[in-house]
Amino acid sequence: MGKALIIGCGGVASVAIHKCVQNHEVFEEICIASRTKSKCDDLKAKLDGGPTKITTAQVDADNVDELIALIQEVKPDIVMNLALPYQDLTIMDACLATKTHYLDTANYEPEDTAKFEYKWQWEYQERFKEAGITALLGSGFDPGVTGVFSAHALKHHFDEIEYIDILDCNAGDHGYPFATNFNPEINIREVSANGRYWEEGQWIETKPMEIKRVYDFPEVGEKDMYLLYHEELESLAKNIPGLKRIRFFMTFGESYLTHLKCLENVGMTSIEPIEFEGKEIVPLQFLKAVLPDPASLGPRTKGKTNIGCIFKGKKDGKEKTYYVYNVCDHEACYKEVGSQAVSYTTGVPAMIGAMLVMTGKWNKPGVYNVEEFDPDPFMDALNKWGLPWKEDLNPEMVDPETSKEKE
Ligand code: NDP
Repeated sequence: MGKALIIGCGGVASVAIHKCVQNHEVFEEICIASRTKSKCDDLKAKLDGGPTKITTAQVDADNVDELIALIQEVKPDIVMNLALPYQDLTIMDACLATKTHYLDTANYEPEDTAKFEYKWQWEYQERFKEAGITALLGSGFDPGVTGVFSAHALKHHFDEIEYIDILDCNAGDHGYPFATNFNPEINIREVSANGRYWEEGQWIETKPMEIKRVYDFPEVGEKDMYLLYHEELESLAKNIPGLKRIRFFMTFGESYLTHLKCLENVGMTSIEPIEFEGKEIVPLQFLKAVLPDPASLGPRTKGKTNIGCIFKGKKDGKEKTYYVYNVCDHEACYKEVGSQAVSYTTGVPAMIGAMLVMTGKWNKPGVYNVEEFDPDPFMDALNKWGLPWKEDLNPEMVDPETSKEKE
């Protein structure tokens, strides 16, 4: 059917590539291109021999000319950006120049300011429309599946959604006192930033980890979770009509938070460059270098993730609540593709998004977030490709008391 150029060869890309190879009817050919070509070659050696033809290349995705030359050589139907959020705009520029579809799993963030915002990528809307190509933004799990879940809830369960709580629980245990499950730099920037949620048309800012709740997650049990800002809040607040409030919670264990606080207090999470032995270094990048590589956590991680959305709104004039979630087992993921569940839950939706663009089901010129497309083929594909979802029509709410007051 077609050809994908995959940029990046880290934790998420590795899962997406495994899944593309499983889905060889759609992905007849893939090119894996990254900064460190040996990682691409190692993965190719592991996966070669099946129907999907695999090639590899070296690329600096910060360099638009290099990217254009690579795209012109490979001639893919889509570029899957599974590098880092810093590369989003250069890869989008190269896609525009070569009229090639684009997909990513995280919104652009300038490397020198920790700020997640869709504004930079949404500004490409007219140019992508004119070029007749699709940019699918945020096709991971959160963002990604959480947006698809929202579109599914709106299409099949509600006339109007008023409240959304996105709950991201990782109950995995890797046995280290402190490690991050995906790129440490991105992860720590995300959790050490101020929290923020959207209510009645306004953003309400909180201190990092200021709002805590305890939730009893299906198949996992009770966990502490904290309100964070997460990028899909911005697109869902815009794309779900009539929404009154949307929040995002993520679970963290005691050990993780104590270590993070200590690292913060000594300045190790700073992104301000400092002078060290005559060389400029960024403390957070140095910290990344000493922490366990997220890819190495796979064989050690036990337990499950549970990520989903709880909705409250109206159907046929009546109040309704609805919870849709996926439970993913770290050890089962590792057995299947050699990665833990955090990479797995991101890599599978990246493959699905690319498949839907390539097959024309989600092909609409312009720049779009996942919730702006028909959720049905994505929901079906989740069940087929390893992330089955479950529903609860009478879920425990995050704030049972306030939610009653609001009724
Ligand atoms: P990793 O750090 O494991 O992998 C990143 C890859 O990108 C590495 O192979 C790296 O190369 C490559 N890379 C970095 N910079 C460049 C560059 N300038 N040119 C070419 N290649 C480059 O990250 P993850 O796999 O954990 O994360 C990938 C993406 O997924 C991130 O954007 C992250 O934010 C996002 N994500 C999204 C989630 C979601 O649910 N939506 C959840 C988790 C992650 P090298 O090997 O040389 O370092």
